[in-house]
Amino acid sequence: MAADYCQRFIFEHFDIRGEIVQLEQSYAELLSKHHYPTPVANLLGEFLSACVLLSLSIKYQGKLSLQARSNGPVPLITVDCTSDLQVRGLAQLTEQAVGPALDQLLVDGILAITIEPTRGERYQGLVPLAEGGLSACLEHYFHQSEQLETRFYLASDGRRAAGFMLQQLPGQLQVSEWARVQAWEHLSALAQTVELEELLHVESEQLLYRLFHQEQVRTFEPRPVDYRCTCSWERSANTLVTLGREEISEILDEREEVEMTCEFCNQVYRFDRPSIERIFGDDFPSDASGSPALH
Ligand SMILES: [Zn+2]
Repeated sequence: MAADYCQRFIFEHFDIRGEIVQLEQSYAELLSKHHYPTPVANLLGEFLSACVLLSLSIKYQGKLSLQARSNGPVPLITVDCTSDLQVRGLAQLTEQAVGPALDQLLVDGILAITIEPTRGERYQGLVPLAEGGLSACLEHYFHQSEQLETRFYLASDGRRAAGFMLQQLPGQLQVSEWARVQAWEHLSALAQTVELEELLHVESEQLLYRLFHQEQVRTFEPRPVDYRCTCSWERSANTLVTLGREEISEILDEREEVEMTCEFCNQVYRFDRPSIERIFGDDFPSDASGSPALH
């Protein structure tokens, strides 16, 4: 099995499904781009796992991002996952970013879940980051937006990151509300027994056996997850266009070329005078989805 993968499972007799994600290489690659203190590295691992789980539970083609802004030592944390399961992410921190708990790092945090489809309208949902951390916040989001009960378990230790999600499906096998509630209470109580250590280190099939060995669980083919930044020369060019010609001309008065560094992966894109002329020309394709700050 790939080092970084996710796996879907469903229960044969209940309208409930789940997803498991375990990450090591992609998480290591993300952490290698910047220096993060341990608590922030752990937080990034939780966000990364959560973002993959969200990506698996929402139907879309394009990019899904999970972003928190706060007044605390971590003013911004952002991770994204494409529908092909390519992930990247970063955190910005102030000097005091050493506290251990999520609510200490992301003081008064607001979580944004954004879907940028390849075609169609961008969607964004906002949820305050309250007590109980990221898991509780995402559970609240699904309860509000989809009226579906969901449980998230997230773990990360700076080396590995993992997540486990259990979610109610719309009624098909079980139509009685009472039976649905019973099934949910039963399976979520079993899921609750998962220990963070086993979530990080025990392979998904074995983990499912440990948790639900009395139930009939069907597992699907695991899918690989990879680190890959979606930045490109064209996207950086579009960001320059949003800054405006005047500002770019001022930079070019002082130096030979304009440099754009991707905040996620540190890739540097260079624009000399002729390429600046070209990107400000009428026939340069604009990228409507490129956000000016983080692209
Ligand atoms: Zn990049």
